[in-house]
Amino acid sequence: MMKIIAGIAVSAIVMTSCNNNNNNKAVAKDTVKAAAPKDVPGTPMKYDSSKRYIFLTWDDSPQPPGTIRCKTAFKTQGVKATFFAVAAHYQIEPSRKRILDSLKKEYPQFLLCNHSSTHAFKDNYNFFYTHVDSAVKDFTKAEAIMGIPVKIIRLPGRNTWAGKGEFRGPKTSEKVARKLDSMGYNIVGWDVEWEMIRGNTPKQSPTELVNLINKKFDDGYTNQPNAMVILAHDRMFANPQHIDSLNQFISLLKQDPRNVFETIDHYPSIQNK
Ligand SMILES: [Zn+2]
Repeated sequence: MMKIIAGIAVSAIVMTSCNNNNNNKAVAKDTVKAAAPKDVPGTPMKYDSSKRYIFLTWDDSPQPPGTIRCKTAFKTQGVKATFFAVAAHYQIEPSRKRILDSLKKEYPQFLLCNHSSTHAFKDNYNFFYTHVDSAVKDFTKAEAIMGIPVKIIRLPGRNTWAGKGEFRGPKTSEKVARKLDSMGYNIVGWDVEWEMIRGNTPKQSPTELVNLINKKFDDGYTNQPNAMVILAHDRMFANPQHIDSLNQFISLLKQDPRNVFETIDHYPSIQNK
């Protein structure tokens, strides 16, 4: 069983035991609440080496109705997930602001992270990644506008990992990633993508995707051991039929007792930064 430990930097995947019963009924309710740091995004947790950690990371939020339908599916299934949001999408209308604000309030189940202000100046990737200062500003602006609670970024259009001076990803994104790393940000890529066809339809079946995930775990072919970051997009699940696929996908993953769903602030290299 997993256990959240406040203020302890965990440097390796270690076994843990469940020993957090609080039998002291005399403890005042507000004291208990004050001593519950697990509700603060980024608080380190201990890992169980017999588990496989799965990070569902959905991009380009908020994009209703997909975002709302995914949120409902995750809640019903009782799994944690991370939404990487774009400020330009957030600012379209007040209802979209409310969607993200509600996500922010629902940590530790949901975590809101940074996917830029303009999505690389509206997918103008070459220009974006060759203008480092304006690109960096695009992320810091997004953080301020949306009140992103953690320094975790996914670069638009690039599967890039960066943190602690390390970099992995397309060369074109290196300058921006390294600059953000030097400012204390973590850049998160992905291990498996639930791809789209025609811009919004899930490509792989739930079974195909779970088989791919199992193979990658078995082969050790992930960015970090025992951790699998899955990328999808909110807009893929606007159609109820596709929400059925999402539910099937999660149900299949839940059948394996080793699988644990976590938010990306608990990704190993991030919480040890
Ligand atoms: Zn994106």
